[in-house]
Amino acid sequence: MTPEIRTALDAAVQQLGDLDLGDRFEPRAASAIVDAGLHRLCVPIQQGGLGASMVEAADVLTALGAVDGATALGFAMQTHVVGGMRESAVFPDRLRERLYRAIVDDGALLNNAATEEGGGSPARGAIPGTTARQADDGSWRLTGEKTWTTWLPNLSFAFVTARLVPQEDVEVGTFLVDLSRPGVERRPGFDAMGMRGSASGRLALQDVSAELVQRRRPGDADPRGPAPGHWFAIVVAAVYLGVGEGARRDVVRWALDRRPGDGSTAVADIPSVRLRLGRLDAELRAARIVVLGAARRWDEQCDGSDLPLAKLVASRAAVSATDEALRIAGGPGFLAGRLERAFRDARAGLINPPLEDVALAGFANDLVERERPGERPA
Ligand SMILES: Cc1cc2nc3c(=O)[nH]c(=O)nc-3n(C[C@H](O)[C@H](O)[C@H](O)COP(=O)(O)OP(=O)(O)OC[C@H]3O[C@@H](n4cnc5c(N)ncnc54)[C@H](O)[C@@H]3O)c2cc1C
Repeated sequence: MTPEIRTALDAAVQQLGDLDLGDRFEPRAASAIVDAGLHRLCVPIQQGGLGASMVEAADVLTALGAVDGATALGFAMQTHVVGGMRESAVFPDRLRERLYRAIVDDGALLNNAATEEGGGSPARGAIPGTTARQADDGSWRLTGEKTWTTWLPNLSFAFVTARLVPQEDVEVGTFLVDLSRPGVERRPGFDAMGMRGSASGRLALQDVSAELVQRRRPGDADPRGPAPGHWFAIVVAAVYLGVGEGARRDVVRWALDRRPGDGSTAVADIPSVRLRLGRLDAELRAARIVVLGAARRWDEQCDGSDLPLAKLVASRAAVSATDEALRIAGGPGFLAGRLERAFRDARAGLINPPLEDVALAGFANDLVERERPGERPA
């Protein structure tokens, strides 16, 4: 990690430590990241950013995830949007420059708004109900409602997916929406099991002007290339790895302090607890190696093939580590608090794409095709 990134991360972590972060959305958490300059993480250095590589970004998000899962997830959205845009094969230069300026000069925060109520997961190719219509002057106008838009209260811009109308053939576009425009309404509502502080709310659009970034038919490859998908996978992997690592730190500290019964033995010194701690640690350390290794391979060789694996391994490790942590802490861990929250937050990783069945099907497909007669190495 460069000294500039380290300084910004340390400043953000220190400010976050002064906030009483919990299940409620805390707008000052986003301000802490912007005040520390960390929001420029993936903006190129020449444009005033910190120029983080994928492995550096993963390192930062893991550290934030160990402090607060919801804050890390909110900032992960900015990280993957900017990282993916920076490395996108095709992206309008004019928009890219404008967004870099908005981030550096105005502290702008960005996210994608793709999911819709009833529409199902966009990761499985859902067609948006939100419509994009071209006005007489050629500008695009969007109408519809998006759900699950993380950090919605903090966002300045969103990349919104919409179906182009009126058109016989189905075509889906991605549009940049300035959320200060008339017709934009931010509706709260994220009554979820975990990541409650992420304020993943509903974005309602009524005839809002928007700029077209890309358009394609369902099933066609994304013209922006693989970078946006790869960045999404790594940020999700890093956040949940961080949630698991935070729970590991918290449970070890708790187990050292807690001396039930006659007070002679700390929970940390009970042999069966040691076994649980070792198991929890082994899973998280293995996940860390996979996550950082996969990110490094993208940085150094443009090979993103292990990124879905990184997300799968990290989210599984977070789920089992927070489960072990709860078993270690027993009753006190079951009461509302950091361990109990980490247990719930980690489970959101099972819902965030890339989805586990999609990743596993991809691995199986590669295996089978590699061994198919005619493809086998001699
Ligand atoms: C904490 C959090 C933050 C999020 N933030 C954002 C955000 O900022 N922006 C955004 O756009 N979205 C966001 N999302 C939404 C997320 O990406 C999903 O789109 C959303 O959870 C709905 O997808 P789903 O697969 O759960 O639902 P559905 O598509 O309704 O699927 C329901 C169930 O059926 C399964 N299923 C559906 N189709 C198939 C199929 N063809 N084959 C096999 N199984 C199938 C799914 O795996 C799932 O288990 C967020 C989600 C979470 C958990």
